[in-house]
Amino acid sequence: EVVVVGSLNMDLVVRTPRHPQPGETLTGHGLATTAGGKGANQAVALARLGASTAMIGCVGDDAHGHALLAGLDQEGIQRQGVRVSPTAETGVAMIQVDDASQNRIVVIPGSNAELAPADVGRWDALLGRAKLLVCQLEVPLETVRYALGRARARGCTTLLNAAPAMTLPQDVLALVDWLVVNESEAAVLSGHPVGHPDEAAQAIQRLRQSGCRQILVTLGAQGVVAADDDGLHHHPAPRVAAVDTTAAGDTFVGGFAAALLRDETVATAIRDGQAAAALAVTRAGAQASIPRRDEFADH
Ligand code: ADP
Repeated sequence: EVVVVGSLNMDLVVRTPRHPQPGETLTGHGLATTAGGKGANQAVALARLGASTAMIGCVGDDAHGHALLAGLDQEGIQRQGVRVSPTAETGVAMIQVDDASQNRIVVIPGSNAELAPADVGRWDALLGRAKLLVCQLEVPLETVRYALGRARARGCTTLLNAAPAMTLPQDVLALVDWLVVNESEAAVLSGHPVGHPDEAAQAIQRLRQSGCRQILVTLGAQGVVAADDDGLHHHPAPRVAAVDTTAAGDTFVGGFAAALLRDETVATAIRDGQAAAALAVTRAGAQASIPRRDEFADH
């Protein structure tokens, strides 16, 4: 079993011919209202890729919140740990996409900002049963720190997808067994630019001094550079025709973590994560693009 502690958002995606200028009103092509948030996306990826998944998070007592809860039910995700706040509004991401596929995003954390250490403490037994905890950084850092610490205390392996990009205190990194970051997150954490596999390897060397030994840097179409106790390796990505890379990172985390839960080797887990993410980037949308395990050619 895996527990995801993280964000749930409603994504409001507006398509426009181009982005409006300040003060300008434009007519858009349409509005899509879809479930999102890195926490929920990763929980959905884990569930679709075969893991028994529970989520801890916080939504508002509003239409978006209830729709998100129903979505988790549909995916078979245990959601007793998702609190319904009587006061805060459900987190929302306002996403504008123009005809050149450039996006502009404003995230309003809403109820996600209310997720407190006590919301995790209430489900301590869940962490005691679980093999893996998966966190991201769209909920308060103190809550992430608390969850990682409780998981460690209960003998549960920890994975942090340190997204969105921010610097992290050493004591948080020291609680992480598996750190998964993309190029910009690796750059912010290590303090040096990361654009190709050599730079990813250098970032990993720097980050290993923080006490976190197992680090994966995802590099989009360039694949993954990973350090585990057996050394540094570059794992190229499958070549695909990408149409929408939204949720590529979330799908990779889900596929990688689901394979770890099956006791696969690190190399196999990275291959699984990349196979799932490669499929996701050939389809439009966030959660809508996340595949099921039986869609992989070689399984
Ligand atoms: P994020 O979505 O967090 O920015 P990345 O862009 O690094 O993360 O993508 C995560 C993983 O998804 C990559 O390591 C790769 O396996 C896969 N991926 C992303 N973009 C592509 C692509 N264009 N072609 C093939 N695989 C891709």
